[in-house]
Amino acid sequence: MIFHILTIFPEFFQGPFAHGVVKRGQEAGLLDIRIHNLRDWTFDRHKTVDDRPFGGGEGMVLKPEPVFLAVESIWPERQPGQKVLLLSAQGRLFNQAMANNLSRVGEVLLICGRYEGVDERVAAHLADDEISIGNYVLSGGELAAAVVIDAVARLLPGVLGNETSAAFDSFQDSGHGKGLLDCPHWTRPADFRGWKAPDVLLNGNHEEIRKFRKQSAVEKTARLRPDLLGSRNLATNEHE
Ligand code: SAH
Repeated sequence: MIFHILTIFPEFFQGPFAHGVVKRGQEAGLLDIRIHNLRDWTFDRHKTVDDRPFGGGEGMVLKPEPVFLAVESIWPERQPGQKVLLLSAQGRLFNQAMANNLSRVGEVLLICGRYEGVDERVAAHLADDEISIGNYVLSGGELAAAVVIDAVARLLPGVLGNETSAAFDSFQDSGHGKGLLDCPHWTRPADFRGWKAPDVLLNGNHEEIRKFRKQSAVEKTARLRPDLLGSRNLATNEHE
């Protein structure tokens, strides 16, 4: 899968993609992340990407022209498997279902806003979708782009060492129950400062372990994220 990132801070991404799963995915050739400097599509001496907002007020706005020119030069002819996403505090909330859908798209271009945001014509006439990573305002789209790429990368076939490990992750429909949290995990030592790992996980009975994990995933979801259970009944869920 190919990701393009359009940003005024290309160096920002030296850290986020140089570790763990995302680094391995790139090394294995499963993930190709191409970073583009928005200023490469400006033609004045100062490489100006921003201007004052019409109507007055605080701050600056990213101009439409460099953004349109960048996308048109990266993709001179748009193909169906190519998606342009604008990172925006006003976008649709990013979630695991969107990550799953994106993992099936061939090529995604992420536009990172800065300042007060991006001229609205980018959202209206260039982007296929406007995406927010949460109900808070960041100072730029770069962190959000890194979040989206990390979440999608781990879903690409072959990127995680163990093919099944993403299936049981929180929010996945394939997991311990549709869209629930992952079950809690323990590792050695079995007794840490008097707090014991559950015996059932140590006895090697795989059917009991499976049931325990499912039950503890349901319990943890009910405790911390009851919104994910919706109208589902805890008691019936146990016997699924
Ligand atoms: N004035 C805007 C915020 C601009 S923040 C507003 O109130 O909606 C500058 C840039 O940071 C945005 O253009 C966007 O690209 C990015 N950004 C800020 N918050 C974000 C979020 N929650 N999710 C994704 N991108 C975000």
